[in-house]
Parts: sequence; C-alpha cells; structure tokens
Amino acid sequence: MSIDRALTDGQTLAAILDKIAGDVVLAFSYQAEDVVLLHLLQTHAARRPVAVFTLETGKLFLETAAYHAEVEAFFGLVIHRYTPDAAAVAALESALGEWGMRHSLENRQRCCGVRKVAPLKIALRGKSAWITGQRAAQSVTRARLQNLEYDADNGLIKLNPLAAWSEKAVFTYAQKHALPLHPLYAQGFRSIGCAPCTRAVAPDEDLRAGRWWWENPEHKECGLHMRPSA
Ligand code: SF4
Repeated sequence: MSIDRALTDGQTLAAILDKIAGDVVLAFSYQAEDVVLLHLLQTHAARRPVAVFTLETGKLFLETAAYHAEVEAFFGLVIHRYTPDAAAVAALESALGEWGMRHSLENRQRCCGVRKVAPLKIALRGKSAWITGQRAAQSVTRARLQNLEYDADNGLIKLNPLAAWSEKAVFTYAQKHALPLHPLYAQGFRSIGCAPCTRAVAPDEDLRAGRWWWENPEHKECGLHMRPSA
C-alpha cells in the first residue's frame, strides 16, 4: 500500500467520524499501528475529539511505561489507563500463580478476561464507537476483518481503519513521519503485549508467533477482538 492510499484512508476515517454522534475512543495498545492512527487522526480529523485509552494490565514490559510517556509528549495528549479490578487480580494470582496463564488455554483466557476484557468493557461503556489498529493480515483470527463493524459484545461501532494495510505500509508510514515506536521492535518483537505472553521472533517466523507461542494460531486472541468462526 502506498503512502497516498494511507492519506486517503485518513480522509475516509475523518468523513466517517463526522457521521458518528457521541463519544469515540481509540484503543492504544503500544503497536506501531496505533501511532499511525494517532497521526492520521491529528492530520485529518483534528476537529473531531477522540479520547485515547490503554489497558494497563499490570503485566506490561518495563519499557512500555517510558514509551507511554513518549507517545503522550509526541502527540500532546493523555492516554487514559484502565486497570483491572484489584480483588479480581488477587483471586486470579492466588488461583494461577505467576505463570499459570501458560498452563492451559482456559487459564490464559481467564487472565485476559480479568486484566483486559473486563477493563475494556468499562472503557467502552457509554461510547458510540471505538477505533482499533487491527489488520486482517495479522492472523488467521483477523482474516475477515472489515474497516467498519458492529461490536455486538460491547454494543457500539468498531472502526478498523488499517484493516487492509500491510505491516510494511505501517512501518513505512511511521518512518516517513518520524513517529515514535515501542523500543522492543528494535529487539526483534513484531507485536507488543504483556511480558509473560510476548517474545521476540526470528525473521522467518509469523508475525503473531511471538504472542502466546504455546497455543494454536486459531486461539490467539485475548477476548478484546473475538469474532464468530467461519
Ligand atoms: S496477555 Fe498474558 S499476562 Fe496479559 S492478560 Fe493475557 S494472559 Fe494475562
């Protein structure tokens, strides 16, 4: 995808946002896609307020905290943190221990449920639409991703403006505009997530190979973006 196409997508995004009444939020998950979206919004839709939030799971990399501040300073905005319920985390840690999320799919989904899915529901409460940086090419679970969807679980519109973008287009855009990237990309990571569940990948490995690498590819979603099976 060319940069020209990226700019067209930014204009399209702005036109869609103009038609949506009520609060729109952007889910920021420290991926390169997210800073591209922030730049597209600032460039093409600055008149339309979009609040930015992240899910502070309590298991993020140390580098992520510094990157969080760097992105806020670069774009001149505040990324609101949503944290999991403390009592639910205590119960989770008591039941699973530090590494229990790796012992079974059920355990891992329980951890994601407490640390991500429940806070997301609070973050999206009362909103009209949310914007994500998902791309169809990222995984088999996202192959049928559309630019505009209805999130039935949370009851609002879901915009995936980068659905058709390639990984190369994302990094080309970020480089062209000198956008800040998470420092772990320089260490071989191709996706950024929680520390216990994310690792660097070899050049010949799949993009999502560094996420939940002990699971089958069709299970690799945390519950934030679950889709009906084909
Ligand atoms: S990605 Fe791993 S540590 Fe993070 S919420 Fe899911 S299971 Fe827990």
